[in-house]
Amino acid sequence: MKKKEFKSESKRLLDLMINSIYTNKDIFLRELISNSSDALDKLYYRSLTDKKVKVNKDKLAINLSFNENDRTITISDNGCGMTKEELESNLGTIAKSGTLQFKENMSKDEKIDIIGQFGVGFYSAFMVSKKIVVNSKSFDSDEAYSWESEGADGYTITPSDKKDYGTDITLFLKDDTENEDYSKYLNEYELKGLIKKYSDYISFPIKMEVTHHHLKDEEKHEYEDHKEIETINSMVPLWKKNSKDVEDSEYENFYMDKFSDYDKPLKVITSNVEGLCTYKSILFIPSHAPSDYYSQEYEKGLSLYTNGVLIMDKCADLLPDYFSFVKGVVDTEDLSLNISREMLQESHSLKLIAKNIESKIRKELETMMKEDKETYNSFFKTFGVQLKYGVYNNYGADKDKLKDLVMFYSSKHERLISLKEYVDEMKDGQDKIYYASGSSITKIDSMPQVEQVKDKDYDILYLTDYVDEFCITAISEYEGKKFANVENGDLDLETEEEKEETKKDNESYSDLLKDMASEIKDVSEVKFTNKLKKHPVCLTSKGDVSIEMQKVFDAMPNDLGIKAETILEINAKHPIADKIKELYKNDKDEFAKYTKILYSEARIIAGLPIDNPTEISNLICDCLSK
Ligand code: ADP
Repeated sequence: MKKKEFKSESKRLLDLMINSIYTNKDIFLRELISNSSDALDKLYYRSLTDKKVKVNKDKLAINLSFNENDRTITISDNGCGMTKEELESNLGTIAKSGTLQFKENMSKDEKIDIIGQFGVGFYSAFMVSKKIVVNSKSFDSDEAYSWESEGADGYTITPSDKKDYGTDITLFLKDDTENEDYSKYLNEYELKGLIKKYSDYISFPIKMEVTHHHLKDEEKHEYEDHKEIETINSMVPLWKKNSKDVEDSEYENFYMDKFSDYDKPLKVITSNVEGLCTYKSILFIPSHAPSDYYSQEYEKGLSLYTNGVLIMDKCADLLPDYFSFVKGVVDTEDLSLNISREMLQESHSLKLIAKNIESKIRKELETMMKEDKETYNSFFKTFGVQLKYGVYNNYGADKDKLKDLVMFYSSKHERLISLKEYVDEMKDGQDKIYYASGSSITKIDSMPQVEQVKDKDYDILYLTDYVDEFCITAISEYEGKKFANVENGDLDLETEEEKEETKKDNESYSDLLKDMASEIKDVSEVKFTNKLKKHPVCLTSKGDVSIEMQKVFDAMPNDLGIKAETILEINAKHPIADKIKELYKNDKDEFAKYTKILYSEARIIAGLPIDNPTEISNLICDCLSK
């Protein structure tokens, strides 16, 4: 039988698994049980919705057994099973798309991080096994197949004689080493303990043969062993339990198992709602974004159950896009089992539940922001962009729901603050919320335009994410205070005297300024300013499109031709102002050169590209060598 190779990324993931970098190898069992449970869910759901599929619910189960002599553990289920093609595609490749960025000499933590992003899944069984055999018969097929692999060098698929539909997975345990005791899994107490710990809530029975000691002889106290098949798990879904009786670790294990995450969730939110709609839910905010989160492939949604039966794995309608990172389960009595996807979307009950869930998540986040800043910061670092998107998506339809959840970097506090915090601390006489955009905090901090606002002792929000300015534009005002970009030409921060002075400068040199503007072409105006302190020039904008926004538009694949209307401002008090006045009188050629250089300087400071760098550097050298 010819061996097939794993897809290269699966192979690498497998390599990591086989060389078992995880310290917690125990989790392999919960991963396999969880897969079996999914397969049973799938089959049961079909039986409820398709009359041709007849399945007796009471017979659906997961069986666990082990054999000390062969050093094997077998996990069997009578779920939907897999066809030959499914064995190939499900076990031969990693399910989730995305590229694994393997690097040479990665540290152990980095490796764990990578595996974690892909979910540990079926491959985790290779942490404890030297060989795995998956014998499966699909409910939809008469043929059964056996998939077999000894690890990274490949796998084979051969016909098998399995009679009933379902899947048997046999693990051939690795040999014990000095540091690792794999034999411990060949023990009923150990296995029972693992099931109780990680898989107790699974809604199908997990059965295993267990030993009971019977008193044989009352007088002699002699015992006799008696073996019996027993259901190990309590089968009560976690969301049906009173949250007071559930330990944090149970929620965490449930999350890690169900959503294949190696990390605990950042936040667990439980609800038990009765009233206009009735449902129980457990929601989780992950502590890190899944690898595919910011890609097209990511599917948002919550697992939807009616009365304990899974009807949809990822019900997207239960979550708004801006909370797409939330994972969880919802169980309701308000929906019929047979509801079609189309009907579900239109369902009034589902809409009510979704509305409740949205406001619950929002309130929890608001509370977290107030009461647990550290956790909120960590949350915002990971998912803040999503919230900011949410603000301006749909033409800002949801901005009022989200404006109290977004944060921006404050120049004064040197950390992220909310808009509320900003407005509460505004100075007397300050009527605007000032912000500045740029690619990094340091760059913004050195912008000429920032200087004048700082001089007034006003706080400035530094926007470094490219969505930030769009977000702020969508919010447009907070508690009656409008936002103002410090880059904007008419900030109106000067004193009356300064204004008068500037006006005079500009009026008496209007010809010079006009000639400069026509030399540059790209700017709508050139003017003298008194607001700059040490910087000679800066580029400001007027109108709705700022320079930072223009950069975002420029980076888009299709050129929308959206440009900021810019103004070149020259520091009236800087020696360069006198220099150009002099050149304008005496040497028009030099004047033109200086104009070009000054404009290029302003563009560089604003982070904009220069079209003619060679020409400009030659001009600069000309001037320097004089
Ligand atoms: P995940 O469960 O996260 O999708 P796994 O690597 O654990 O990833 O499993 C890959 C796929 O193999 C599953 O999505 C499922 O389609 C299939 N599979 C695994 N175990 C079983 C099983 N016991 N019965 C049927 N299908 C299974």
